[in-house]
Amino acid sequence: MELVFEKSRAGRGGQNLPPLDVPETVIPEEFARVSAPRLPEMAEVDISRHYTELAKRTHGVNDGFYPLGSCTMKYNPRINEEAAALPGFTKLHPLQPVHTVQGALDVLYLAEQYLAEITGMDRFTFQPSAGAHGEYAGLLLIRAYHKDRGELEQRKKIIVPDSAHGTNPASAVMAGFTVVNIPSLDNGCVDLEALRAACGEDTAGLMLTNPNTVGIFDENILDITRIVHEAGGLVYYDGANLNAVMGVARPGDMGFDVVHLNLHKTFSTPHGGGGPGSGPVGCKEFLAPFLPRPSVAESTDGELAFLDMPKSIGKVRSFYGNFLVVVKALTYMMTLGAEGIREAAQNAVLNANYMASRLSDLYPMAREKGVMHEFVITLEKLHKEKGVSALDVAKGLLDNGIHPPTMYFPLIVHEALMVEPTETESKDSLDEAIAIFRKVYEQAAADPESMHEMPLHTPVRRLDEVGAARNPRLKYEF
Ligand SMILES: *Cc1c(COP(=O)(O)O)cnc(C)c1O
Repeated sequence: MELVFEKSRAGRGGQNLPPLDVPETVIPEEFARVSAPRLPEMAEVDISRHYTELAKRTHGVNDGFYPLGSCTMKYNPRINEEAAALPGFTKLHPLQPVHTVQGALDVLYLAEQYLAEITGMDRFTFQPSAGAHGEYAGLLLIRAYHKDRGELEQRKKIIVPDSAHGTNPASAVMAGFTVVNIPSLDNGCVDLEALRAACGEDTAGLMLTNPNTVGIFDENILDITRIVHEAGGLVYYDGANLNAVMGVARPGDMGFDVVHLNLHKTFSTPHGGGGPGSGPVGCKEFLAPFLPRPSVAESTDGELAFLDMPKSIGKVRSFYGNFLVVVKALTYMMTLGAEGIREAAQNAVLNANYMASRLSDLYPMAREKGVMHEFVITLEKLHKEKGVSALDVAKGLLDNGIHPPTMYFPLIVHEALMVEPTETESKDSLDEAIAIFRKVYEQAAADPESMHEMPLHTPVRRLDEVGAARNPRLKYEF
């Protein structure tokens, strides 16, 4: 298909700018561009057709089942979008006087209270734009805490179990810590002996992804937080996948000091293609002075105001984060209510367990029991015996109208496929997906060679994924 730049025709256009209603200003020469931007020139109808054509070539959550493990590609209710599209929100400027934006501050204030209730934390910031960004901000809180107590020089190590999300060790390094990796047991839980051995006077903290990357809720979670606290460290909860536990269990009650959430997973903002996302960070009261500034608080005259915080780690992003994502998350929480939030988590876990149990006679599961909202398949045996890889199976699923599960993640499982059905799928759509998974497996067993040819029916066949990663071509070469 042609790119917009190839479809462009000089002089064609669809813009109709409104008349100027502000005083005209001349841009100083040093800031003015020297040549016109090379934008595609197209009529509105051509642009509309272009993007419709593109949309038809991809697979989104509105096309069908999308069990991309760890990413929570659930269906996001339209009402969230309607709320976020209200002109009272979209037409705001972040530098408006606060008495004119009381409603927007109320959104931040209320959303903070809801998330604090859901996680058992005391305060939240909405500045981070993504999960990994939240991890980084949360680690800066841990750093600021040790610094404040004069122990930063001594406490430089962050312990990360090997079942953690890959962003955890990366964020710890970015925040200036060294990472101590500890193994997990065969059942997917943290090895407590290894944890005890790793803890000491140099421990700054531990980051735990829970449920972890094999979809397991660590049964020793109270021991884990206690062991780290006894060593003087703080405990960080990677709550990107709170979909499994929201409304049922709270990181704050398990002893965690800091948590981040992914609003663009659990709290129902569409994602993919780079955003916009939101990775709010919550903490216990004793860490609140270090949160990014400013925070929203009630002032003495009953209005909401921005509070400056002298011990703050500073800003981690401009203004208050991706505000409209917070509007969507708040709409989602308010429409579900406490009961609905719990039910969503319960259905997410039920759906994953239903699918896992209907597939486990064919597809070997990486861990035997106790999966939460997602499960991990290992195709090591199929690969060894028939030469069919996890990638081949993923392509086979794609040919049958299903988005593939996450592949080759987590790294501790060979030939992994990580399946997260989410709570928004009905039993009918799960049954349909189960039938397709079974059909693809049977084909792999009966005719392994044919699997290397898949997909046959998608707009593009197999892509050069290594080439795309090594030599990305991200802009049009004129
Ligand atoms: C998705 C995810 C992250 C990272 O979130 P981004 O918004 O992609 O930066 C971190 N931890 C876990 C467990 C995740 O699933």
